[in-house]
Amino acid sequence: MSRATPSGATPPNSPTPRQPATPAQAAAPHRMAVPVTSVPVTRTPSAGTPGAGAPRPSGNGNAVAAPRPAGQAPASGGAASSPSAAPTAKPPAAPTAKPPAGAAAGAAPQARQAPRGLPPISELKNRPLGRILHKMGKVTREQYTEALSIQKQKGGLLGRILIDMGLIKEADLNIALAAQQGFELVDLAGVELDAATIGAVQAQFATTNKILPISFDPATKHLVVAMASHENFRALDDLRSLMQYQVTAKIASDPDLLERLIAKNYQSATEGIGDILGELQQDDALKDLKNRGESIDIDSLEEAANSNPVRKLINLVLLQAIKDKASDIHFEPFEGEFKMRYRIDGVLYEMMPPPAHIAPAISSRIKVMANLDIAERRLPQDGRIELSVNNQPIDLRVSVLPTMFGESVVMRVLDRSNVSLDLDKLGMREDDLNITRQLIHKPNGIVVVTGPTGCGKTTTLYSALRELNDPSSKLISAEDPVEYDIDGVVQCQIKPDIDLTFARILRSMLRQDPDIILVGEIRDKETAEIAVQASLTGHLVFSTLHTNDAPSAIARLLDLGLEPFLVTATIEGVVAERLVRKICLHCKTEYTPTVEQLMELELRPEDIAGKKLYYGKGCSNCNNTGYRGRIGMFEIMLLDDDLRDMIIQHASTQVLRMESKKRGMRSLRQCGLLSIYDGITTIEEVVRETMMEEE
Ligand SMILES: [Zn+2]
Repeated sequence: MSRATPSGATPPNSPTPRQPATPAQAAAPHRMAVPVTSVPVTRTPSAGTPGAGAPRPSGNGNAVAAPRPAGQAPASGGAASSPSAAPTAKPPAAPTAKPPAGAAAGAAPQARQAPRGLPPISELKNRPLGRILHKMGKVTREQYTEALSIQKQKGGLLGRILIDMGLIKEADLNIALAAQQGFELVDLAGVELDAATIGAVQAQFATTNKILPISFDPATKHLVVAMASHENFRALDDLRSLMQYQVTAKIASDPDLLERLIAKNYQSATEGIGDILGELQQDDALKDLKNRGESIDIDSLEEAANSNPVRKLINLVLLQAIKDKASDIHFEPFEGEFKMRYRIDGVLYEMMPPPAHIAPAISSRIKVMANLDIAERRLPQDGRIELSVNNQPIDLRVSVLPTMFGESVVMRVLDRSNVSLDLDKLGMREDDLNITRQLIHKPNGIVVVTGPTGCGKTTTLYSALRELNDPSSKLISAEDPVEYDIDGVVQCQIKPDIDLTFARILRSMLRQDPDIILVGEIRDKETAEIAVQASLTGHLVFSTLHTNDAPSAIARLLDLGLEPFLVTATIEGVVAERLVRKICLHCKTEYTPTVEQLMELELRPEDIAGKKLYYGKGCSNCNNTGYRGRIGMFEIMLLDDDLRDMIIQHASTQVLRMESKKRGMRSLRQCGLLSIYDGITTIEEVVRETMMEEE
């Protein structure tokens, strides 16, 4: 399998098995590797997609498509990437699927294998069918002889005769026939299956073929499955050839229980996105949307949007996204192609795409849910969907953008249950946390959090607001958008289309007698000036800027047109932030990095002497990405009198950075290094998210 690296961090010429899995590498096994065409029985386009809607990484693993300001370096060494560099190419399909790594060696079979009431297979194999059924306790000797005499008179199959006599059921016959062929029987009552075993077979495959994995040893790739019929050769062959498993098949003594267990263990997949996609492909009403382009009338659109398969698909897509903790869901129309991607922990994963011709139905459905105008297909629209999923309120911010080939729809998932808004939980080190607390408890001044979109700065500011939120002070915010509702904070949404800008809200805010003000972002001189004015009149102001690091924030404010003396009079500190993915705790593995990997961080092997480095091998807990969740990296610059003098004298960003570091500022990169040494994240993540320092 060709190696794709997210950051160029992993040298391609040293494919030792101990290297950290890049998203593409780690996610590939188990999740995406079964070629669609080779999966039996199923006909849906997603048949090969493991698990309904299981994410597969889009692009070559460097799926970092987060918008970054120009010059922001996602890769090492400050190499700038253009937004168009966000790769969309599909990863090369692996010829064979692999089992998920990381399972404990030799997951012991937990199903009871010699259940009471079922004789050992040695007593059944190759015996006459009637004897087998008798030994299984299904028929008496008398019934068996009676059936035999009927067979002598009328001919026919003994099993069929017994069924016709009402003595046994179809399922009993199946089991007896399997036993006759030497298949072991298994009693699934009370069986408990671990995630590694369940993960060894894809949900779609298990549900379609009615097989349940009951034990799996990743070391030997030995898989034991329970199934209803021994005639399911194709499923077994596929497991052998596609997954390269050694397969032992057993016959479930209770087919109903088998079905229930499959449903239970692969629950969300029982009617998976794949099934719905198949339904959509076949739906006659929706076929009418094909090649109609702009000419679709509102009635057809409305009908399509309300059609059952479309509704089902959107519901499932949302459920799956929330289950996978996706932050964004993208529907993207291209010429002759429609893409669906989820962003999980900051990385985009391409999902099995819906048929291209139903794109208008999907965007219309989402517009209906968000109370938008489905007749308007030429102008952008924004809306919001409020959902309750498992009794948790979920907010979706919907953006619809008309493109060359139809409407591009992006839904941001604002899952409040997912965010704790607690300064202690952002991942700040003790000392940074203390500095931050001092900063946010100042009576006035401006505190800026800086970084690219999606770097966690909003969460950090909200956490600060929450900590300061008490009845004795008035907190007010202008935001775009309002991402979380916080009790006790007066929150305003800016609306540029009616000229309700940050500047305008901010000006009015000052007349609302606030103590603490949050301005979503300082984008222009006007906003910057009002923020300064607010600070000078005794308010504490929080805001954000888009800069790569903390020292650059000063230059940005000066570039906006602020006088240096106003900057130095008001800015108390700048916090730069980045999010890196945390190594999955379930598959965390120690490894020794190569010299090349260390060089990405300008380290020599002796620098990490005595230190342990880790990566995630990939397991079912992390969708085989090796990562689960994210944590902030911080760089905090505090202004002292000397630094203020330097700013007045137009010191360069480089000088400010150097001087701040002399005063103890820990850079993002250094913060990342500490997290690597703590075993929290990987070299790849730190290289991807933080810049090399120019000194
Ligand atoms: Zn894992």
